[in-house]
Amino acid sequence: MAEAELLFKELSSYLKPEDVVQLESAYHFSKAAHQGQFRKSGDPYISHPLAVTQILAQMRLDAQALTAALLHDVMEDTKVTKAEIASLFGNPVAELVDGVSKLDRMEFQSAEDAQAENFRKMLLAVSRDVRVILIKLADRLHNMRTLKSVEPEKRRRIARETLEIYAPIANRLGLNAIFQELQDLSFRHLYPNRYKVLAKAVKAARGNRREVVTKIQATLQQKLKEAGIEAEVYGREKHVYSIYKKMREKSLSFSQVLDILGFRVIVKDIASCYLALGVLHGLYKPIPGKFKDYIAIPKANGYQSLHTTVFSPLGTPIEVQIRTRTMHRIAESGVASHWLYKSSDAEFKELHQKTHQWLQSLLESLSESRDSVEFLEHLKVDLFPD
Ligand code: GDP
Repeated sequence: MAEAELLFKELSSYLKPEDVVQLESAYHFSKAAHQGQFRKSGDPYISHPLAVTQILAQMRLDAQALTAALLHDVMEDTKVTKAEIASLFGNPVAELVDGVSKLDRMEFQSAEDAQAENFRKMLLAVSRDVRVILIKLADRLHNMRTLKSVEPEKRRRIARETLEIYAPIANRLGLNAIFQELQDLSFRHLYPNRYKVLAKAVKAARGNRREVVTKIQATLQQKLKEAGIEAEVYGREKHVYSIYKKMREKSLSFSQVLDILGFRVIVKDIASCYLALGVLHGLYKPIPGKFKDYIAIPKANGYQSLHTTVFSPLGTPIEVQIRTRTMHRIAESGVASHWLYKSSDAEFKELHQKTHQWLQSLLESLSESRDSVEFLEHLKVDLFPD
């Protein structure tokens, strides 16, 4: 299969040869175990674990996690046991597969109960190892990408669960790309018409605004250079769901939301962040009350940046995020930075440890909660602090 060859080629670029050999053998084992099973799309079942592994390989996850990703459905869907996996691929891989399988074994009485139970089981399974949740999120992402083959009612249920549970967890772990994609896919399947209208409007507006974005970007870049600040300035695209959310929460019309331009400034150190802020506020007037210092006070997921909104010469608001390269990596990849940028900054290691501690503290509150609904309330406060 072409996809498998592509994957192994990618894996060879960062894993040891013996790890790639183990992964090839896990692939053949999984393929044989799923033989005769098909996805709703009609594809052979192995295409799913393969795609999930591909997503995790992009995060540069280690060989154990990738092996578990290839095997993540064999305990649930075939006769393969945990002991068998342990003897063939080692105990850590068997534990990971078991953790993911536990999350899959869920039946619910009501929607609220389902949500609460889902979270509870997820946390129990991942408390020992963040990698379990990364595999589960990649699994959900691929299922969401292929959701159109599923019957409409089930599709909506899965989309809602993704929007209410999996996307916020991806956000809490700082996995920004996965968070955004899960939200957009959920929105698309929950409200197909609204999605279509908005996506089309966003595409049209994008073309119209290209010129003004390029102009502001060049001006900013020039002013920062004159002030002796090394900086990269980028224009920022908004995702469909975040536009929809902003319209609803702030009662804004589509054109009001789209009028807001977004930029990102990447500089070399923290001092330069504040210097760049000064240059920006000297150039364009800031809107009072919009400045946020998430460098001094990071978000719970480790996110750091300076946020400000200023008025462009045309009177339209411009949202600017200013951050260092390390902050940018954490903003994009969150806890996965630990694997992606292995050898570099201590910040990534610290974030991984902090995430682990968060999961542990949730577990404590889990044991103190009387029932899963009460626990869910507690967790929501944690996931949606604002
Ligand atoms: P505020 O209104 O300035 O406090 O910021 P918001 O929380 O409304 O976020 C505004 C923008 O900042 C978002 O659209 C994102 O681009 C970015 N942002 C905020 N929080 C996070 C985060 O946790 N991770 C990442 N990657 N970006 C974030």
